[in-house]
Amino acid sequence: MGRAIRFRGVKATPKTLEKDLLAKAGRLASDPSLLIPKCEQQCRRCGYDKLLKKMEKVAQYKDDAETLQNLATRGDQLVRAYAATISLAASGKIPFLTSKKIPWGDVSFAVRGKVEAEYLIGVQYFDDPDLRLLAHFQDAKDNDLHIYSSPESLYCSSDGPNVPASYSKEMLATSPYDLKADNSCGHPEAVIGLMVHWRSAKINLFICQECADEVNLLHHLLSRIAAREPWDDFDIDVRYSPRCVADCGACRMKEKFAMSQGLKEAYEKGQLSDVMLLSRYIQEREAHLRRSGGELYISGDECFGRNKEAFLARLKGSEAELIALSGVIRNKPMPIISVNDQAGRIITDLWPQLKEELLAMVADPDIVKSVLANPGNLTPPQLVIEARRQQLSRSVISRLPDYAIKGPIGTIADDLARTFKTEGKAAMVRQLDRNRPRETRLKAVAYGFLVAVGEADSRNWQYTKEEIDFGKYLGEFAQTMLAAEGNDYDQALINLLAASGANEDLKRKL
Ligand SMILES: [Zn+2]
Ligand SMILES: [Zn+2]
Ligand SMILES: [Zn+2]
Repeated sequence: MGRAIRFRGVKATPKTLEKDLLAKAGRLASDPSLLIPKCEQQCRRCGYDKLLKKMEKVAQYKDDAETLQNLATRGDQLVRAYAATISLAASGKIPFLTSKKIPWGDVSFAVRGKVEAEYLIGVQYFDDPDLRLLAHFQDAKDNDLHIYSSPESLYCSSDGPNVPASYSKEMLATSPYDLKADNSCGHPEAVIGLMVHWRSAKINLFICQECADEVNLLHHLLSRIAAREPWDDFDIDVRYSPRCVADCGACRMKEKFAMSQGLKEAYEKGQLSDVMLLSRYIQEREAHLRRSGGELYISGDECFGRNKEAFLARLKGSEAELIALSGVIRNKPMPIISVNDQAGRIITDLWPQLKEELLAMVADPDIVKSVLANPGNLTPPQLVIEARRQQLSRSVISRLPDYAIKGPIGTIADDLARTFKTEGKAAMVRQLDRNRPRETRLKAVAYGFLVAVGEADSRNWQYTKEEIDFGKYLGEFAQTMLAAEGNDYDQALINLLAASGANEDLKRKL
């Protein structure tokens, strides 16, 4: 909790809030023990007994607002906050409130005496399981206490962490995961997952990789503990134990592996979600294997040892992704740990180190260069697919004749055939839908291409009977063009022009 207090202005007190605060101040005036944590055992180190005695003395002035406000200017902060708060009840009104931004949102409270805001808020909201901790963070730090706040009470342990059952029960019940009776997500056998051992509660939690979410489970569990290091009661670890489906020998996944201290601390301090912890752990583990050399292939819950072909056969993805990835993997022995069988995901993991190699498997160097120079918003797998598309269209086009002269029918037929060959049927149909010719003979040719790819019937309404009949006749000429390359393509185009009755020039580039 930062010391810096930023007041967000002073406001007139809403009536209900005033009534509420006065009622709470009245309760505190007659019972200061409401502020005191229950000590789990006989506490040697906590000073709550002494503080309670001081508060009981303060309570003797519970009808004397002036004296109380005076008492709120010296001594222990908690006692000051107590005096300040019960002085509200003594004066019977709270015309103005101050508000302060804290991690739970804006909170309004009354300022009296000379008291740190955290203490005033913690005391004035002593019935709120989150806010009341504000009055105890400092003492917990100074005296190395563990203070637990559960809805019904506050507990203190001065002898290291010692969680009361009501606290752990509440925290498990309000966990961001729907925990089953065994305190797991319901998949206690899962190969990958987060393990949390809560020592003093004697509880083991397990959240599998599939169920893990963008939350920090540990942070939830300790969110109502005030202590120097509230995570000091928890052991955090990751289970990663794939089944060996190939002959691994002494499988390296059976070795002990501890996550780095930095990773652990980042998680403990709430800087990482459960999902991020798991993926960083896997990265660390993979990096560790990579440093020590050798091969190891893991996909999801299966370990293929060094059997890269079995591993590759398991991967799923587009043709381009599979070509790129298997090419790189066959060229370069390396450990690969993937939490699933998606080639795209592995490509994404390998991208920072191996993007040139991956792209080189599917495209010429100049295409690789231009794709890397202008990646746009494409993800690594999309870039691989794009590079392959460019490569394919280049090689298709290189097998087609170029024309120096062609007329309108030659142009539409050649354009449609090229689009079909480089980008597929859907792209060709789109091109026609966007740019439908008007002249009857051209329309008949267009219809012929639709017939050739089996997309004509749904568009009949766009054509006259004459165009449809003519187009059906041209369909097989179009089909021959779509299948042809080189000189055959040239001949197919000449035949189509003749069949359409076109009287136009066609001349190949030399
Ligand atoms: Zn105690
Ligand atoms: Zn699960
Ligand atoms: Zn293995």
